[in-house]
Amino acid sequence: MVEKLYEGKAKILYPTEDEEILLTYFKDDATAFNAQKRGQIRGKGEINCAISAALFEWLESLGIPTHYIDRPERDRMRVKAVKILPIEVVVRNIAAGSLCKQTGLPEGKILPYPLVEFYLKNDALGDPLLTRDRLAILELATPQQLEQIEAMALKINQHLREFFERCGITLVDFKLEFGLDSGGQLLLADEISPDTCRLWDKAETDPKARVMDKDRFRRDLGEVESAYQRVQQRVLEQIAQLRNQ
Ligand code: ADP
Ligand code: MG
Repeated sequence: MVEKLYEGKAKILYPTEDEEILLTYFKDDATAFNAQKRGQIRGKGEINCAISAALFEWLESLGIPTHYIDRPERDRMRVKAVKILPIEVVVRNIAAGSLCKQTGLPEGKILPYPLVEFYLKNDALGDPLLTRDRLAILELATPQQLEQIEAMALKINQHLREFFERCGITLVDFKLEFGLDSGGQLLLADEISPDTCRLWDKAETDPKARVMDKDRFRRDLGEVESAYQRVQQRVLEQIAQLRNQ
């Protein structure tokens, strides 16, 4: 096996013969609260790889440029190598998580419009929320890139919201990462999975029972594996339906 390029909390990156292509291996490892809480979710690697691959492929078909190439194995994805911008882009439709903690908004409050937020991708600093001026001063992206990222994030939100709605799932919020390919083109990168999205089952009203994402692990709600499996099943069913249309 070739030596890994980088090991993160959820994935390992391997080089390939083509320097413009990376192999991403999705791990079962789960972390929360800036890696203070660690564990494993059985089958998560394969599930997140399958969900991400399906969603990237589908977004690509709708004109969103992504890093996705293919999925040679169940837990492995080939992607275009990009220079990841050190910004975590969060889109929120409903108040949850740190937004509630920091503002006092009640969990579950529907936001008047989708909120796009930028956080610094830096575990040592605790991924702090960035203001426009902090973004400009840190020169993490050009103003044009930021505008493009925000527009892309909102478009992705529209597509994903509608998609998950058809799955009987409410898309509460999610995190995106973007990168620049060798030609300087901005691509959607990383993953879209129950690790990076808050997903609530529309059939459940109970605030614990409805959770289908990593919050089950964060908040020790149990039945983490089965929640991830149910998301995978609904996503893949929906993709198959859209293909047959
Ligand atoms: P983290 O611990 O930072 O969350 P992950 O384990 O989720 O990391 O992912 C590993 C790393 O891969 C992350 O730093 C992520 O930004 C990076 N990455 C994702 N897609 C690409 C890509 N196409 N090219 C290069 N790096 C990527
Ligand atoms: Mg990650």
